[in-house]
Amino acid sequence: MSKFEHYPRRFWTSSRALRAGRRGTDNHSMSNRSISRRPKTQNEWQRRIARAEELCAQYSFAGEILRFYLVIARFQENFYEELGRSFERSSAGAGRVDSEPFRRPLHPELTNRFESFLSVVEQNGPDQLREAARELQDGGDDSHFQLLKVFWNGTETGPLPPGPHDFFACAFLQPYAAGIRSRSSVRWSGPTPYRCPFCKRKPGLGVLRPLGDGGQRSLVCSFCLAEWEFRRIVCPGCGEENPAKLPVYTAEELKHVRVEGCDSCRSYIKTVDLTKSGLAEPIVDEMASIPLDLWAQKQGYAKLQCNLLQL
Ligand SMILES: [Zn+2]
Ligand SMILES: [Zn+2]
Repeated sequence: MSKFEHYPRRFWTSSRALRAGRRGTDNHSMSNRSISRRPKTQNEWQRRIARAEELCAQYSFAGEILRFYLVIARFQENFYEELGRSFERSSAGAGRVDSEPFRRPLHPELTNRFESFLSVVEQNGPDQLREAARELQDGGDDSHFQLLKVFWNGTETGPLPPGPHDFFACAFLQPYAAGIRSRSSVRWSGPTPYRCPFCKRKPGLGVLRPLGDGGQRSLVCSFCLAEWEFRRIVCPGCGEENPAKLPVYTAEELKHVRVEGCDSCRSYIKTVDLTKSGLAEPIVDEMASIPLDLWAQKQGYAKLQCNLLQL
């Protein structure tokens, strides 16, 4: 039995212990519980914000992380709405849906709001990010566009290493990515795409949604937040299909979040189990269940893709 002692963090310093995980494999059926839904009038960012506020009060171990996430998510929500209005203006009359929006070069105009994003982080972020925000503010618009472009082209030129720059670019561009993804006409074929069918990035988490007596598994993109179905007993890192090599771990305190490991490639991904908690918002619950990351990493697993807060 292991203890969760410290966050596996790049920016975060708090620590808090949780009790250990337990081991099993994913070959049992699960009960299908009733799901209570949030008001439909909320958009996806509003639902995440509401959930993060809820969990802030419940999970003291994730308070610091969730408070910062709330600041970021509120910025993202405003930016998302703003971009939505400008998409509507620009597509009005054109009647065209884009089939490859992620292959288009990034528009320099997007940089206009980056400065205000840096200020938000400079005022609310953990020390290392505040400092990085100040340095970026000194750099000016050209260097900002350069950074965003490097991130945007990352699937062709290689991703930015995890760290402050990756965080700034990903968090800032995410509402734009989600916006163009939801308006695109991209369709995919093939049974199990290992990368996001839209932006080609790695999945950041999994979701189990109620289906019959069990759960339908899907993956969620770490950038544009697309969700796509994925076979339940397959490693999204290497394609391993042997159930004996795909252990699932859960902790008593966070029953609805599973650590899904792979003993072939030693990667793991966390999956939010909506058959156990219909109130969960996968992206927020994944982020809040930080003690599970430390636990998994102590067992020698490496996260397939770090989340927005670089955890
Ligand atoms: Zn994507
Ligand atoms: Zn694997």
